[in-house]
Amino acid sequence: MISKAWISAFYEKEFGKKPSCFRAPGRINLIGEHTDYNQGFVMPAGIDFYCYVAISDTQAHSSSIIACDYQEKFSFNSLPEKPTSTHWVNYILGVIKAMNKRGKVLPFFNAIIQSDIPVGAGLSSSAALESVFAKAFNTFFNLGFSSMELALIAREAENDFVGLQCGIMDMFASIHAKENHAIRLDCRSLEYEYFPLELADNKIVLFDTCIKHELASSEYNQRRKECEAAVSRLNQLGHRVESLRGVDVSMLHAEKSQLDTLLYKRAKYVIEENARVDKFSKAISTSDWATAGSYLYGSHDGLKNDYEVSCKELDLLVDVARESEGVWGARMMGGGFGGCTINLVKEDKVEEVIEHVKTSYSDTFGVAPKYYIATTGNGACEI
Ligand code: ADP
Ligand code: MG
Repeated sequence: MISKAWISAFYEKEFGKKPSCFRAPGRINLIGEHTDYNQGFVMPAGIDFYCYVAISDTQAHSSSIIACDYQEKFSFNSLPEKPTSTHWVNYILGVIKAMNKRGKVLPFFNAIIQSDIPVGAGLSSSAALESVFAKAFNTFFNLGFSSMELALIAREAENDFVGLQCGIMDMFASIHAKENHAIRLDCRSLEYEYFPLELADNKIVLFDTCIKHELASSEYNQRRKECEAAVSRLNQLGHRVESLRGVDVSMLHAEKSQLDTLLYKRAKYVIEENARVDKFSKAISTSDWATAGSYLYGSHDGLKNDYEVSCKELDLLVDVARESEGVWGARMMGGGFGGCTINLVKEDKVEEVIEHVKTSYSDTFGVAPKYYIATTGNGACEI
């Protein structure tokens, strides 16, 4: 367990000064997959895995950052123009650059980072890293950015400096998360609403296949194109829609015979998934776990059969969850072709479910999946 006391003491030993401490959470996406680039809805929540930062200003004429988990230190006195070969520091330099672009130049500082968010497990350790620095700089140097600006700055860091074209959800969630709540984010307007997620005696369990099939990124691009093609076709047919967000079930059904079968399936999934986000948010608000869980399974079925972004490893994890007592619902989380499943599980059944899943998965694939047990957590804040 990382604590403020530990990270503070480490900082003092290293830099001879008491720091201010911040943390930002990793995130899950409860429901709303492949809806972001279709201007639809997503439903992330912060989890109780965090990236911590201790920071203070310095009289020195350079800034230094220590990544405890990598036992590496990076110092700089001017902002590198291009990404550096120290990969982790680029996320932070990207944040500084995005802030500079908005007219805020930071004084020199020293910082240390430590995180318990597993890297590459689908919990967005990188967004937490960007978000915690965005929050720390904003608070410590009194920069006056709003929380939505911080999320946009964090995304810009990843898009423009690290060079990864991701959406806003991960950084948005890491900054805006609220314990015992999920957030429904409208990816078209960036309006958002909190919904109670009182897990009580339930847990979120993530099973990690630890694989990423090679076709993941080409298929992702392909899906984006297919969705655009469906929108184009509907416009040709006389509808005025900018994205699949503007299409409802009745329009789609009416045009079914005019649409290519594949495009119809893709569009159907996206439209149904947007509707599921809405229904899911109502179910969790009343702690109706059985109903909420059924939408998780519905989401997985759509991703598997209509959107075709699942894989045999993810399907097995969901199939085993479906037959396990104490699991309300499960689905693949993230882009697909590997990564994690998210499972809503009764707390007193968690151990049993994990054993069952591990055994069944190992019997088929020869290795056990990794797993993480989480509950909800608060967004980026000073601690
Ligand atoms: P994820 O899905 O977890 O976000 P990414 O590949 O997008 O995976 O980001 C992981 C990268 O974020 C790491 O390679 C590293 O550069 C940075 N990172 C994550 N956690 C830490 C940490 N504890 N300390 C320093 N850098 C980190
Ligand atoms: Mg990432």
